[in-house]
Parts: sequence; C-alpha cells; structure tokens
Amino acid sequence: MTRLAQTADLTDVQTEILATVRRFVDEEIIPTAQALEHGDVYPTKIVEGLREMGVFGLVIGAEHGGLGESLLTYALVVEEIARGWMSVSGVINTHFIVAHLIAQHGTEEQKQRFLPRMATGEVRGAFSMSEPGLGSDVAAIRTAATRQPDGDYVIDGQKTWLTNGGSSTLVAVLVRTDEGADQPHRNLTTFLVEKPAGFGEVLPGLTVPGKIDKMGYKGVDTTELVFDGFAVAAADVLGGVPGRGFAQMMDGVEVGRVNVAARGCGIALRAFELAIDYAQQRETFGKPIAQHQAIAFKLAEMATKVEAAHAMMVRAARLKDAGQRNDVEAGMAKLIASEFAAEVTQESFRIHGGYGYSTEYEIERLMREAPFLLIGEGTSEIQKTIISRGLLREYALPR
Ligand SMILES: Cc1cc2nc3c(=O)[nH]c(=O)nc-3n(C[C@H](O)[C@H](O)[C@H](O)COP(=O)(O)OP(=O)(O)OC[C@H]3O[C@@H](n4cnc5c(N)ncnc54)[C@H](O)[C@@H]3O)c2cc1C
Repeated sequence: MTRLAQTADLTDVQTEILATVRRFVDEEIIPTAQALEHGDVYPTKIVEGLREMGVFGLVIGAEHGGLGESLLTYALVVEEIARGWMSVSGVINTHFIVAHLIAQHGTEEQKQRFLPRMATGEVRGAFSMSEPGLGSDVAAIRTAATRQPDGDYVIDGQKTWLTNGGSSTLVAVLVRTDEGADQPHRNLTTFLVEKPAGFGEVLPGLTVPGKIDKMGYKGVDTTELVFDGFAVAAADVLGGVPGRGFAQMMDGVEVGRVNVAARGCGIALRAFELAIDYAQQRETFGKPIAQHQAIAFKLAEMATKVEAAHAMMVRAARLKDAGQRNDVEAGMAKLIASEFAAEVTQESFRIHGGYGYSTEYEIERLMREAPFLLIGEGTSEIQKTIISRGLLREYALPR
C-alpha cells in the first residue's frame, strides 16, 4: 500500500509530519468520512485534531508561531488528507491561501495582526474572487469598494462560492476600486475582512446567507457573501496600497493550484487502493476479477496515472519553494492531476460493479468529489490557457 506516490529526498521533519498525518487520516478521517459527508456535517472533531497537530500553521513562519514548512510539505499533507476525505483539505486550503497572501503581500502590521492567530487556527481564512456573474473572468469583478472622504471604504456587491464562507473569520476578498488605471485588472484591490463565524448578517452590511447545496464536497460550507454598505478601513487593504489585488490573488491561486493537484493525487490514490483491494476479493467466472486481464490492465493504468500526477505535483511545489516562477508547471500539475483523478475514480467505480453505485461504498463519494477538481482554482480550459501562454512566451520566435 505504500509503493505509490513516494517522494524522494524529504527531510526527517517532513517524513515525520507526513507519517503523523497519515496515521491521523487512517484512524480519524477514513472511518468517519462517509457518515459525516452523507449528513453534510462539519467535521469539528477532525478539524480540532488538525489544529492540535499544528496544520493551520504549517507554512506560517516560525516568527509568527507557525512551523515554517514549505509548499511541498503542505502539498504532501493535503495529498494525505484528501486521500481520507477531500472536504477536510477544503477546510485548510483557503486558510493556507490567505496566510500565504498575508505573508507575501501584507504590511508588517497585517502580518502581526493576523498570522499568529492564523497559526493557532483561532482565525480561519476564506478567499473570495468569484461572483454570481463570473468565475474564470476575474478582471470582470463588479463588487465595488468606494473610497470615503476619511480614506476608508464602503463595499457593495455580491460574492459567491466561498469555501468556508460561514466557518471562517477572515475573508480575503477581491473587489473593484477605481484607481483610474486603463487595464481593468489594475483596478482591483484585496481587502482583509475580519468577521464572526456563522450565518446571517454577521456584521452591519455583511451577510452570509445559508450554505450552497452541492453534489459532493459536503461537510465543508460553501456560501455567498453579500456586501450592502459595508464599511472597511483603509488599513485592511492587503499590502496597504490599492490596485494590486489581481496580482496578489493570482499568486494565491498559483499555490492553490498545487494544492488542488495534491487533492487530485490523494483522491486518485484512494480510488486505486479501493479498486485493487476489491479486485482481489470479488470473484467472477471462477477467479478474482484482478485475474481478468481487462481489470488488471485498468489497475496498471490507474497506478501509472497516480504516479505521473504525483511527480508533476511535487515538481511544481519544489519550483515554487526554490523561488522560481511555476505558473506553467502548477497549471500542468493541476490539469493532469484533476483529469487523472476523474479518470481513476471512474475506473475504480467500474471495477466495483453495481456496488460502486451503493452509498455504502467509499468510491461513490470519490466519484462526486473528483469533478470539483476540474473546476476549482481555474477550470481545465483556463489551465490550458495559462500553460499555452507560458509556452508561447518561452518558445517565442525571434523577431
Ligand atoms: C465547490 C466550489 C467551491 C469553490 N470555492 C471557491 C472559493 O473559495 N473562492 C472563489 O473565489 N471561488 C470559488 N469557487 C468558484 C470557482 O473558482 C469557479 O466556479 C471557477 O473558477 C469557474 O468559474 P465559473 O463557475 O464562473 O465558470 P465560467 O467562468 O462561467 O466558465 C464556464 C465554462 O466556460 C469555460 N470557459 C470560460 N472562459 C473560457 C475561455 N476563455 N476559454 C475557454 N473556455 C472558457 C470554462 O472552462 C467552463 O467550462 C468554487 C466553486 C465550487 C464549485
């Protein structure tokens, strides 16, 4: 069970963290995931366990009370967690992106104000770009912040698809501010909005309506966020300077793409594990189905996809950790890992025969989880756009 998805040259600390998380996933997540997911129940006890292990502060610098680990460590932890239940990785992912945004782009005051409390999990992050009228086309954002005579802002508009929108207490939200720039994306600004967890009008002018009902990825809340004359201080502009939000958020989704790739790796690995177990137990025509070549070949192809996706995900994470641009590699890793996750779960489902359609079998849940990865942090079409742009830049003919 440990041959696939191995990573070379890990430090002792990384190896120890991963072993701890794997044990936690096997003992605490896998046995309870199915029931919690079917009931759409927030995994409070699991999240508490992650908090005790320090997962919320995994990549936050030691100077702010975190473990100061790399993107690679984070991605490998996410792979382990998604192998158990993708929704749990959803709880930490938006938190991780917001912590990354503050650490990379925040003012010193913002780092001091938020990172220590984020490291302990006391403050939980969500990030918000999408609106009812747009997802891929981020520069078309309509929610607007209007500057007031005292220099502070008032926000009006509607956001949607916030993962952890209700359970989070800090939202990094991308809105339009009129900086008078001729390029639309130069008129976008990220605000750090601290709010109580919960639903309804949580602050004057800020409402989190109920949860959006989803086909999978249950347990973790996904919400809208409505601003109606919501007052926010100039000190809450990420980095202190308006107009930089688009570039900041693109940096956030770049690390987010490695995370989605890691989730795809975890789901595909679990789907493979379930398939290879089942294929040795189920007999047809006098022998285990694994001994029918058609099924054995499926297992071979699934394992190959697990390995390829893992290798590309690790490479994208290591490039970012080395301080290199990784937009193309993160896009490739996200594209291949999400597409392979969908294919491997589908094959595992087929191997389960009719039982795969029963809600008693784990593969049924994975089948509903995997499609989200084709959409989140940019669809496959958007990844191909990013990859091809990067390649054309790199391979441009001399003029
Ligand atoms: C469960 C869930 C959780 C989410 N969590 C968050 C979150 O926490 N924060 C957040 O901000 N957003 C979140 N999202 C939103 C997500 O990022 C968007 O759904 C995604 O970016 C796609 O946007 P869209 O749904 O508006 O699709 P659209 O942009 O309307 O795209 C529709 C289709 O057109 C294709 N398409 C669009 N433009 C092009 C193009 N130029 N060329 C070719 N094809 C194109 C797309 O690939 C897609 O197939 C979440 C979504 C889901 C489902």
